[in-house]
Amino acid sequence: MYIDCHAHLFFSPIPLEAIDEDITGEIPTPTMEFISKMISSAKEKAVSHIVGVISNPNDFPSYRLQLEFENIIHVIGIQRGKALEEHSHLISLLNKEIERKMPHAIGEIGLDYGYGFDNLNNRERETLKKGQQELFRKQIRLAKDFDLPIVVHAGYGMDKDIVEILKQEQAQDVGGQIHGYMSKNEYVSEVLDMGFFISFGYIHTIEEELKEIIEITPLERILIETDSPYHLIDSPKRFILPEDVYLITDEIAHLKGIKPEVFANQIMKNARDLFRF
Ligand SMILES: [Zn+2]
Repeated sequence: MYIDCHAHLFFSPIPLEAIDEDITGEIPTPTMEFISKMISSAKEKAVSHIVGVISNPNDFPSYRLQLEFENIIHVIGIQRGKALEEHSHLISLLNKEIERKMPHAIGEIGLDYGYGFDNLNNRERETLKKGQQELFRKQIRLAKDFDLPIVVHAGYGMDKDIVEILKQEQAQDVGGQIHGYMSKNEYVSEVLDMGFFISFGYIHTIEEELKEIIEITPLERILIETDSPYHLIDSPKRFILPEDVYLITDEIAHLKGIKPEVFANQIMKNARDLFRF
């Protein structure tokens, strides 16, 4: 049995400009029909569990819907895109959902200085960075209050700032999953020393530089994810879905030199250890 350790089941619509002509297959649309089908076809491909991440407060009403599905591991939090909105209001919205039903983790939280930074001047950039960092810190503290692990979004090249904040906030007390593109071995070693799990996706199976990280990450600290449905997968080119997690799991088992079924069992065990289900 496989687990997709990071997917957005209740997602915001995929922007039209992201939909190239050469994309095949169905374009993911956030309707109940599509979402139910996405979950059931994953089950048919032996993906028994999915970690469902709801990290845009606009989508918080979907948390109640997601709770209705079986074998979903619930993660809820406020993503960096909301960094310039009033934090106390956002945190109180999050608190309400947590009190409704305790999730398995808080996420995805973290930093990304890429998207949305292009057209800003230096002062605006600094303000946005500071806002992201503050929102990240506040949610680490919230996770500690509830004794929940965190799911950290690590944008390209953000490793240093992320590791610094995790250390300053003593995030190792709750631990969590590093999701995204942590790309320098030194920082990977530091988060591993803090007890974090590293989550690998499709990108790690195709980019040489990222394969090194797979090598240095011990088996008992690996998670596998699709980050569905925002990414594209090749041959043929289409949007990735939770059912595709078996492709990534088998490929990384191969890179680690382990039998796919043994590796898949280990990933399930790791996910159970972290998300306590
Ligand atoms: Zn994500």
